[in-house]
Amino acid sequence: MPLGLSQKARGIAPSATLAIDAKAKAMRAAGENVIGFAAGEPDFDTPETIRDAMKEALDKGQTRYSPVPGTVELRRAIVEKFKRDNGLTYDISAVLVSNGAKHSLYNAFFALCDEGDEVIIPTPCWVSYPEMVRMVGGVPVFVPAGEKENFVPSAAALAAAITPKTKAFMLTSPSNPNGCVWPKATLQALADLAVQHDFYIISDEIYESLIYGDHAHVSIASLGEAVRARTIVVNGVSKTYAMTGFRIGYAAGPRDVIDAMSNAQSQATSAPNTPAQAAAMRALTMPQACVETMRKAFEERRDAIVAGINQIPGLSCVKPDGAFYVMMNVSALLGKRIGGEPVADCAAFATALLSHAKVAVVPGNAFMAEGYCRLSYAVSMETIREGLQRIEAFVTSLT
Ligand code: PMP
Ligand code: GLU
Repeated sequence: MPLGLSQKARGIAPSATLAIDAKAKAMRAAGENVIGFAAGEPDFDTPETIRDAMKEALDKGQTRYSPVPGTVELRRAIVEKFKRDNGLTYDISAVLVSNGAKHSLYNAFFALCDEGDEVIIPTPCWVSYPEMVRMVGGVPVFVPAGEKENFVPSAAALAAAITPKTKAFMLTSPSNPNGCVWPKATLQALADLAVQHDFYIISDEIYESLIYGDHAHVSIASLGEAVRARTIVVNGVSKTYAMTGFRIGYAAGPRDVIDAMSNAQSQATSAPNTPAQAAAMRALTMPQACVETMRKAFEERRDAIVAGINQIPGLSCVKPDGAFYVMMNVSALLGKRIGGEPVADCAAFATALLSHAKVAVVPGNAFMAEGYCRLSYAVSMETIREGLQRIEAFVTSLT
């Protein structure tokens, strides 16, 4: 047998969001003044009481393995959180804590997909879903939805994507990359389809606390017992509490699915970091005022960046209702040139923007959205203002 990588490994693309963020950070480290709209990561400091909880855990000797599904204390706090925020009742045995929501998602795909099983994913979608589905041998099936529909597919489009091989549906509301929040009626339509055709819903609710205007988060699992029995709710502390580096995510769902996810985790990674679990427990149980403070700041930034983009000739965007991303439509500018070089597609646009204007964005092709670039507005107002000025100057210089 010759040396070499597996077919599966060769087929996997690296995370574009992390790669572009790493490039922007490397340029900054080399002394370049780069504005980073690439990383989907809150810029706020992790609240002090959460940091204290981690230090206290270390000092109390909580430095050993915890039970694979997470500490009992953290899982109890998660059970309470589901009750308090989502109207969902779970037994502690139906909850699994993992190394970030990303790991929870991977565990879920692993637990559900056999070779050739289909997972329906609305697009534009977050970079990691299709790759994770492929990593476990599943087949991503895409349902595109455009700006006109506010990036939410119609009930008819959802129904049309279902086949006898449909195993699961990947729901993300609020969404990364487009910030859409699914209306309750569409959630209900999806729930009805899942019950009728017997497929699972993996509901990634990591942006649930970042919703703006009159919109409110509804967990699809709360729409009735039948849909709850088919839903794996995934959430985490990264975005709500500015805790991306702690790597704590969690999932709740049907016992057999959670058990299978836990078994996989027990073999691959064991329990997540014990002191980080203590910090996550503090986050979920402390007074939640700081969450609202951060949410309000994100809402102001959203308003500023949306207004700024829409006043630059050739660019536009729809106003997102949640998360901290906006999809900037660059399609009217494609085909122009910069310094003689053609800007043929959104990837070329993002590359030219980074090299000429020192502004990092993620090209839409990473999210199956040609013609767009994703901007994360989890940055200061000052950065937003400066970044928009640079983008405008860049656009003006296109010929
Ligand atoms: N889901 C979505 C939609 C995300 O944007 C992210 C951000 N990386 C995650 C899941 C995973 O978050 P984490 O692993 O940091 O909990
Ligand atoms: N979710 C964030 C993003 O989309 C963080 C990077 C990642 O995990 O891919 O930018």
